Amino acid sequence: MNSLQTFAPPDHLVRRISMSHDSTTNPDTKLLFFRHLAQTSAAPLGLEIIRAEASTLYDREGREYLDLIGGISVCNTGHRHPKVVEAIKSQVDQYLHVLVYGEFIQSPQVKYASLLAAHLPPSLNSVYFTNSGAEAVEGAMKLAKKAKNRTGIVAFKQSYHGSTQGALSIMGDEYWRNAFRPLLPDVSHLSYNEAGSLEQITPRTACVIAETVQAERGVFAPDIEWMQALRKRCDEMGALLVLDEIQTGFGRTGTLWGFEAFGIVPDILLLGKALGGGMPLGAFIADRYLMGELTDKPVLGHITTFGGHPVSCAAGLASMEVLLEERLMAGVREKEELFRRLLIHPAIRAVRSAGLLMAVEFDSYETNKRVIDACIAAGLLTDWFLFAAHCMRIAPPLIITCAQIERACAIILKAIDTP
Ligand code: PLP
Repeated sequence: MNSLQTFAPPDHLVRRISMSHDSTTNPDTKLLFFRHLAQTSAAPLGLEIIRAEASTLYDREGREYLDLIGGISVCNTGHRHPKVVEAIKSQVDQYLHVLVYGEFIQSPQVKYASLLAAHLPPSLNSVYFTNSGAEAVEGAMKLAKKAKNRTGIVAFKQSYHGSTQGALSIMGDEYWRNAFRPLLPDVSHLSYNEAGSLEQITPRTACVIAETVQAERGVFAPDIEWMQALRKRCDEMGALLVLDEIQTGFGRTGTLWGFEAFGIVPDILLLGKALGGGMPLGAFIADRYLMGELTDKPVLGHITTFGGHPVSCAAGLASMEVLLEERLMAGVREKEELFRRLLIHPAIRAVRSAGLLMAVEFDSYETNKRVIDACIAAGLLTDWFLFAAHCMRIAPPLIITCAQIERACAIILKAIDTP
């Protein structure tokens, strides 16, 4: 399992996609996009999307793209599911922002937290809604430090937890961290899925933060035994185990939560991405006694103005209801298998998957980029991974049909053979 080659792309190769698809963008909009929107890379995708529906995106010129990445593991119930759209409209007709988080009783928050608690183990019964995944990570680290009165935070190499200072401090790759030092002190990065590394969890450790499956490493699932040993070591050392399910939650891996596959329960669960059904929302979830730490010494231990926005909660609640009612998890394994059966080609070195979170590994970033460019030109949207630039991302809406998977794989195989 550890033979996986991962690397950050050198600066001159950091190109998500060439701008060869610019013709689909209105020239004025494109100019203003570059002039007035802060850019995060030298060559953004640059497609001007004007509509999205189920698993399909439409650009200004009416070109269709089958969405193989679902907004990066966000759109599990598809783009604009009618029930999600209806819930948003209904909430907009009632109220938008009314007060900072935690003061008023807002029924979308209450209903959503109750539904989440009903589908989580009993110890995960108190939900703190945030704006984003990274804010959930920040909240969890603060909660652990205060509850344990310890400073040590353990994270893992090649893990991604967000881009704010605290989340960046625990990110497992120096390439992405280095320019922003100094970061949080007392953070150690251990090797994921290696038994020996667990010894570095000590009585000084406030919490251990791990992804249930390392997504940006190019989809790397740990062994069950290792996850269980991690849980045990945390218990022995009195450290809290924080599982980041921001990419793996909401059915992505074939069960509602990724941790179900490992027979363990975290002390704090981090959710984001699909949590909001397409609207911005994050959460950290713990036992209410533990969460009570944030109410005292100091009071208001974590403050957020927009966290748990009522429209985001209404959308997320509707999306989770759709996920459960339409039993979308039930089809995940079959669809994963279909991808795996069809993605056979000498240029594909490996396909790693955890349900519909998949990485298709090529020999190099250059090959991957060429294939991704050809896929996009053929109407299939895909991407690479932060710590595995030689791997192509597959994380479609869970509602993707078998016919769409067959079409997607045919495009990928043709793209590989396109010089
Ligand atoms: N954790 C994981 C595993 C993620 O993949 C991400 C985002 O990609 C985050 C945390 C951060 O979430 P956000 O971008 O909402 O801050």
